[in-house]
Amino acid sequence: MTEKHDIVIVGGGPAGLAAAVAAYDAGVTDVVIIDREEAPGGVLRQCIHNGFGLHKLGRELTGPEYAAVYAAEAVKRGIRILRETMVTAVSPDREVTACSREGILKIEAGAVILAMGCRERSRGALNIGGTRPAGIFSAGTAQRLINCEGYMVGKKAVILGSGDIGLIMARRLTLEGAKVEAVCELMSYSGGLTRNIVQCLEDFDIPLYLSTTVKEIHGRDRLTGVTVVAVDESRRPVPGTERYIECDTLLLSCGLIPENELSLAAGIPLDTITGGALVDERRETEIPGIFACGNVLQVHDLVDYVSDEAELAGRSAAAFVRGEISQEKTVTVSAEKGIRYCLPQRVHTDAGKTELYMRVAAPAERVKIVARDGERVLLEANRRRVAPGEMEKITLTPEMISGAEEIRVSLEAWK
Ligand SMILES: Cc1cc2nc3c(=O)[nH]c(=O)nc-3n(C[C@H](O)[C@H](O)[C@H](O)COP(=O)(O)OP(=O)(O)OC[C@H]3O[C@@H](n4cnc5c(N)ncnc54)[C@H](O)[C@@H]3O)c2cc1C
Repeated sequence: MTEKHDIVIVGGGPAGLAAAVAAYDAGVTDVVIIDREEAPGGVLRQCIHNGFGLHKLGRELTGPEYAAVYAAEAVKRGIRILRETMVTAVSPDREVTACSREGILKIEAGAVILAMGCRERSRGALNIGGTRPAGIFSAGTAQRLINCEGYMVGKKAVILGSGDIGLIMARRLTLEGAKVEAVCELMSYSGGLTRNIVQCLEDFDIPLYLSTTVKEIHGRDRLTGVTVVAVDESRRPVPGTERYIECDTLLLSCGLIPENELSLAAGIPLDTITGGALVDERRETEIPGIFACGNVLQVHDLVDYVSDEAELAGRSAAAFVRGEISQEKTVTVSAEKGIRYCLPQRVHTDAGKTELYMRVAAPAERVKIVARDGERVLLEANRRRVAPGEMEKITLTPEMISGAEEIRVSLEAWK
């Protein structure tokens, strides 16, 4: 069976929902969202803590509440959401193939928005030595088991990785009666938001060991303990610093990987740093009519920014369907000294006000983000402190972009 729709959105998480609503409000009403889960909302359905929506909605909500706001907006507009339906292929000419209990569905789409989110890095990808007992979970799996399924994962835990999910789960386990012995972080700084370090670790006296990793896993049927070890600046274990911690649970919070298998199969070029598609200021990938937004494009720290980005992608897809696309040339945006990546990676010379999102390579104080075109300084933005866990953004005006040849962004000392 082949259907035709103006816009097909792959993924019904916060990104997919916000993109659908924005596309609809921009005048393209034939929008379909496809999600493999039984309900829309994506990962937010398992994030039952608060802290969502302060920036976007002006109030503090839990994850499911935040997702419900956008799901209700989609339903109000009559946007079709196909649940328990897995997209298995997207072709470069925008044919979307999906399967569900009803069978295989093919849709010819005017535009496609990719909003598939991320998955977590697993133990297999981390190469930790030792046995393979029960009791080792990715932090997100433990979050789902505890918050959605009602299962407690253990009594004494060590958490490897201090990204936001690890920090949130340290607090969650403590509130559920477990003892979190340690959060270990390979880097010399935490990858999480400062507010989460304070509210999830410091408020609960949970120790954070920086420059430390798990070297070995012990236990036969169930985990009995882990050996942790300090690492040097090159992240190599320092001999003699090994320490055994008794625990029955190890949570891994060691990074998110954008789910871009569909994008790769469609031939969409990806950025080696973000793991997401290379996009322009409208969030259009290098394949015309295919857009990307949310965590599948870049790992966001706050869902509020996911919604902002998705709304932009939704409006852009609507413009594409109406044939309103820029014919102007694009200039490259590149990240230099001190900046890990910058997104979008290219901007049309007739772009309006454009926000550049970026992450710094390492924590720093009293620095400025500088955007240059050749030797010409376009913009300088001072920051008292920056950290890789917190996304930065600067705004370029149309005047800065219109005559530029190549925009380069770097981090410099602020004297
Ligand atoms: C385990 C975990 C915990 C997190 N906890 C927090 C937190 O506490 N606070 C916070 O601010 N952020 C948290 N995040 C970040 C959070 O994921 C993002 O802020 C936000 O959910 C990203 O929205 P998204 O729509 O891009 O992706 P997601 O929420 O991941 O939604 C993607 C959707 O796409 C669907 N999908 C993917 N592939 C397909 C396919 N082929 N076919 C059909 N459907 C598909 C998925 O089922 C999912 O519903 C967490 C992320 C993870 C992975």
